[in-house]
Amino acid sequence: MTCHYSSRNWANIAKLADNTKAAATKLLKWAEQEKIDVLIYETLRSKAQQEENVRKGASQTMKSYHLVGQALDFVPAKGTAVNWNGYDEPSMKRFVAQAKLLGFQWGGDWKSFIDKPHLEYPHRGYGSDTFSGTVAHSTATVASVKNSAPAGNSLSVVDYMKSIGLDNSMTNRKKMGGESRDFQLCWNCCAKSSTPCLFKSGTEQNGSCKSGQSEV
Ligand SMILES: [Zn+2]
Repeated sequence: MTCHYSSRNWANIAKLADNTKAAATKLLKWAEQEKIDVLIYETLRSKAQQEENVRKGASQTMKSYHLVGQALDFVPAKGTAVNWNGYDEPSMKRFVAQAKLLGFQWGGDWKSFIDKPHLEYPHRGYGSDTFSGTVAHSTATVASVKNSAPAGNSLSVVDYMKSIGLDNSMTNRKKMGGESRDFQLCWNCCAKSSTPCLFKSGTEQNGSCKSGQSEV
């Protein structure tokens, strides 16, 4: 039984730079063998997206490893449900340990801006990884790679929060990133569209929110 998000995960990994993609491929193969479910919801990010993230306070740098295809964001999953509060679960600790073994650095280890969904691959430094053997010297190159990538239904937290009209300030982002246990995303009964609803923890039934209900 493969992870519900397997095809989306592989489509997102395909967008990464070469060496990062190789490491992420090993990581996801390992996770699938170990039956550890995750959703890799974002990998390569455009300059415009990153500018928006910085403006909203969801990111603090224009030197994001996402811009150069050397980072991925993941969230623990169980079937169709994702759990933004699940990063401390034993299976996720194993997943992160395996990622580090493969050369990734984890945003959950950072001191000033804890970013639990984030894994980045330093390779030989920022922007050092290649796309089909060519170093992406400009963001234009990155953008063209992104445009030619298969259309995945990648959904970032920020995009998601925007889609439900929620202010994606750090306060709200922390709620979703596991700093608070107040909210969960429901990908189960509300996932007919690409915008699942956000609901208050404790109001779920069988791991999903009460049908179609959004409490925000
Ligand atoms: Zn990230």
